[in-house]
Amino acid sequence: MKLDLNIQARAANKSNAAPANIEGIYYSLNHNAPKATFAEAAIKGQAPDKGLYFPKYIPKLSKEFIENIRSYSKEEIGVTVMKPYVGNSIPVNILERIIGETVNFDFPLVQLNEDIYSLELFHGPTLAFKDVGARFMSRCLGYFNRNSSSRTTVLVATSGDTGGAVANGFLGVEGVDVVILYPSGKVSPIQELQLTTPGQNIKALEVKGTFDDCQAMVKRAFTDVDLNNKLSLTSANSINVARWLPQQLYYFYAYQQWQHEQPPVISVPSGNFGNICAGMIAFISGLPVKHFIAACNANDVVPDFLQTGEYVPRPSIATLSNAMDVGNPSNFVRILEMFGQRLLELKRVLTAYSVSDTITENTIKEVFAKYDYTLDPHGAVGYYALNEYLHGHADEKGIFLETAHPVKFPEVVERATGKTIPVPASVQHLQNRQKQSITIPASFDALKEWLMNRQD
Ligand SMILES: *Cc1c(COP(=O)(O)O)cnc(C)c1O
Repeated sequence: MKLDLNIQARAANKSNAAPANIEGIYYSLNHNAPKATFAEAAIKGQAPDKGLYFPKYIPKLSKEFIENIRSYSKEEIGVTVMKPYVGNSIPVNILERIIGETVNFDFPLVQLNEDIYSLELFHGPTLAFKDVGARFMSRCLGYFNRNSSSRTTVLVATSGDTGGAVANGFLGVEGVDVVILYPSGKVSPIQELQLTTPGQNIKALEVKGTFDDCQAMVKRAFTDVDLNNKLSLTSANSINVARWLPQQLYYFYAYQQWQHEQPPVISVPSGNFGNICAGMIAFISGLPVKHFIAACNANDVVPDFLQTGEYVPRPSIATLSNAMDVGNPSNFVRILEMFGQRLLELKRVLTAYSVSDTITENTIKEVFAKYDYTLDPHGAVGYYALNEYLHGHADEKGIFLETAHPVKFPEVVERATGKTIPVPASVQHLQNRQKQSITIPASFDALKEWLMNRQD
């Protein structure tokens, strides 16, 4: 595809002109804040003008690296890819340790049929792909905080999986308090246990509202003068560069295991669009990808945008794939930035689908019957969208990201397959633990009052 090459070539030109001293430098997409180093961007989360941070320079990977990717270890790939984004903020030996601890589990590519593969991203400690971002970010903040006597408060809204991953990643990290907001009754039992039972420096606030409410409350907290005078706040949502960027590694690990001549089409179950946006930045820096698919549930702001050219955020709708119930995906502005706001260029690289709950459940059923493979609802959305796309592109093959373990969504998966899912040993201990949460209404004032007055 000619246009893809153009985009990649532009990145290459930029990089040739880029001296090393702009590696790891970030600007705000609202263009009204000072530039920041990786450390500053990770500590702040969001720029002071409320924009998302974006790298000034998108690295260009060498041909040698891409062609010989099979001869590199996971850790070597991780350091090669992340180093230019981290710049001088972290010494290489520390980065190596952080990457080593971040990717210490498997990312297997499993073949389902002649054309479709599943990249399983649920082998981390909390059984969803968010472990990589959360583990990387927590270790970076731990390092940045190493000589500081003041405490940092990580404030995070979750639609399900982020909470557990962030709780697990930050548990016991010195100098960091974590406050997780989750929508009451809208996360699965295992998800709830993962984020409400760790204790120590982790607190769960159960919000009587939706994920959008939680996200809005968190966003407002970052701009509230009283709160920011009292606390050093940061975000662990995918708007944080330290959580967003390491997600690129999945796409390199997928390519490392890809056995076909032609690059894969990659279908990404998408909610806040952090994961797919990471995949696209990997592509721009030289990773071969044939096409991207944003696989959405009924929350179809982006599929609509690609059709109509109009971006209309709306309240989120609750679905079976709850981690993607997002009505105003934060990271989409980053994708637009990568493509210079040019919709036509973006559409050559990205197709989006909206998949209903009925189809999601039928897909779980069908794939189980045909291939003896158990999808979770998010992976099912990804599989379905990929399969649809391949119908019109018969000579292509693809990968969908299986973003969570099916045991996190037992009700629908067991209904669709008629089989009980064995609980993996790594989460069995949760079953005997007591949920500990503090219920608050879906109002910023309630959050502020709790944060201003907490005594623990
Ligand atoms: C968070 C999540 C998604 C959506 O990822 P984004 O980066 O927000 O687009 C998809 N699937 C699962 C299982 C998730 O936890």
